[in-house]
Amino acid sequence: MQTLIYTHPACLDHRPGDHHPESPARLLAVLTALKAPDFAAAQWRDAPLATIEQLVLVHTPEYVESVQARSPSKGLRALDAGDTIMSPGTLEAVLRCVGAACAGVDAVVAGEADNAFCATRPCGHHAEADRAMGFCVFNQAAIAAKHARVAHGVNRVAVVDFDVHHGNGTQQAFFDDPDLFYGSCHQSPFYPGTGARHETGVAGNIVNVPLARGCDSAMFRTRMTADLLPALRRFEPDLLIMSAGFDAHHQDPLGGLGFTDDDFHWITRELLKVADDSAAGRAVSILEGGYSLEGLATGAGAHVRALMGR
Ligand SMILES: [Zn+2]
Repeated sequence: MQTLIYTHPACLDHRPGDHHPESPARLLAVLTALKAPDFAAAQWRDAPLATIEQLVLVHTPEYVESVQARSPSKGLRALDAGDTIMSPGTLEAVLRCVGAACAGVDAVVAGEADNAFCATRPCGHHAEADRAMGFCVFNQAAIAAKHARVAHGVNRVAVVDFDVHHGNGTQQAFFDDPDLFYGSCHQSPFYPGTGARHETGVAGNIVNVPLARGCDSAMFRTRMTADLLPALRRFEPDLLIMSAGFDAHHQDPLGGLGFTDDDFHWITRELLKVADDSAAGRAVSILEGGYSLEGLATGAGAHVRALMGR
């Protein structure tokens, strides 16, 4: 398996404040883990900048303009009640996040690699059409899915999200489109409050698997095997995108679930089996959350090892 890893130094220069959990140290921990000999066969690429055309696949032009206008030349500026903060480096970082996801789609659809992992930050799955939320400015997973359709004519795109939080922004972007699938497992009740089982989209194209605080490996695998994986298989995606958050890791200080590194390896393998069967294996994974530096590093390592077929 050939795996591409997209990243960019600009993603380290989003600095939302010394006490903010979404710190540059997160990405450094992931990059350090992926420099280990285990990952020597992966091919590294620089994340390009997103275009405005890509951003407006999901976001309103007014919102995109307002993010550009609010980008501070010094100091910090909050885009919401205080979770989502821009520093002078944030605008380039979020443009690299979206650029990486779209470039990953381009490369995988062109057959340059089997799959791609976007080692970028901040996360994107809470960002809605017209608002920043939960550390997220632009929704790179949802944009990448729509980019695949517009740029490459890929018909059916699935995003599967195993971050501990529900991706309300991705669900919103996909809700009314039967050819876009969003499947999420997430802690519930928990931030952001969406992701109930009865939120099923216009054609059963949204599948939510709420997990109670304390959910362990066995329960996680049982629920995914019973609910999300069969629905994804029935959808028959032509391209699979993963919103790969690692804040469901048992070491995570924000999340309350008990996933292990093996669980991240397992779910990645299970998702790739579906991609193999209907999407010629085409998969793009995007880093979302994960706030234990150790759990993030080992969880992401297990995930990328699975992407590489190991
Ligand atoms: Zn999260």
